Amino acid sequence: MKIDKVLEKTILQMFNDFYDSNSFITPERCVDSPTAYVYSSLNKYFGESNEGHERKLNGLADRGFLIKHIHDRVFMCDSCKSWHVNLHESCPSCHSLDWAKRTLYHHFSCGYVGVESEFRKRSFNELYCPKCEERLRHVGLDYEKPVNSFYCNSCGHIFNEHAADSICINCGATAPVDKLLVKEIYSYELSQKAIVSIENNSLLETSFKELVVDSDTQGYTLDYLTFFLENQRTVAQEFGDEIHLLIITSDSIKAVHEFMNEKRTPGYIFATSNHYCIVCGTRGSGESQTEYLKSLVTDLSAYGAEDITATLSMLRLDQEVAGQLDELIAANEKRRDESDADETVE
Ligand SMILES: [Zn+2]
Ligand SMILES: [Zn+2]
Ligand SMILES: [Zn+2]
Repeated sequence: MKIDKVLEKTILQMFNDFYDSNSFITPERCVDSPTAYVYSSLNKYFGESNEGHERKLNGLADRGFLIKHIHDRVFMCDSCKSWHVNLHESCPSCHSLDWAKRTLYHHFSCGYVGVESEFRKRSFNELYCPKCEERLRHVGLDYEKPVNSFYCNSCGHIFNEHAADSICINCGATAPVDKLLVKEIYSYELSQKAIVSIENNSLLETSFKELVVDSDTQGYTLDYLTFFLENQRTVAQEFGDEIHLLIITSDSIKAVHEFMNEKRTPGYIFATSNHYCIVCGTRGSGESQTEYLKSLVTDLSAYGAEDITATLSMLRLDQEVAGQLDELIAANEKRRDESDADETVE
């Protein structure tokens, strides 16, 4: 679901109204609806397309603004998607509807099972087995206590459990009930996120990327770099790696950022601020890292970045990263000031 400004305003209004009335967005039964339900409370926000309502609600639920609660399950025809489906109990052998409840007799000596009328054909008062013609005298000895079961008039099948079949009133398709589609109908509750969005008057969410990447420079923030290196410190100790880093300050820091975006290489990450850029090796030998970092400084000059102050250092793996970075940034700052002062003196 693409949300533009107008739709955002409407959704926020809807959230606000349901929040004020402290109610769920609930479906109502509707014979004319293709899903048997409608969300008519949404008509005043989104018009009267119920299909559209459901799509929006589910879209908002997917994004965490609404919590779904099951309200009903609707059987639907597999062929035409209509919910106008009639359920049948039928003979499990031939699927005929022509069955009846009957009293059944079981003749022990020959094993014959049949309905009562068959055993009474010869005499109304006495029971004779229609198969072996023996007389049935004692219940429990000659024959089993009569039981009620279902008897199919079409195929003669005797059964205790029906088959569950369906016919679609709309298109006439027949199917076993377990082949029908089942559509879940939900009511929706505002989530905490929706309530926050009412307060902020915005559906905008802050993504993880927005938190850790500077949108102007595409470099990481210093906070994230610190966090990352703090974790990487343990990895480096474990694998015997070194972490070298380069702090660059330049009069044309924008050019440095652009350059770094072009030079992006696995194994190196960089963080940016308005006046510096820090590039760090994350894996591999110290020698290859320092070589690469030095080459960056050379290439930067060729790229057109002016007045560069760059400090190459190795991170101490036995100390916290945050303090070290502060020191290194300050040291680079100091070198820059001193070289500026030198220039003024000269
Ligand atoms: Zn049958
Ligand atoms: Zn018999
Ligand atoms: Zn159908």
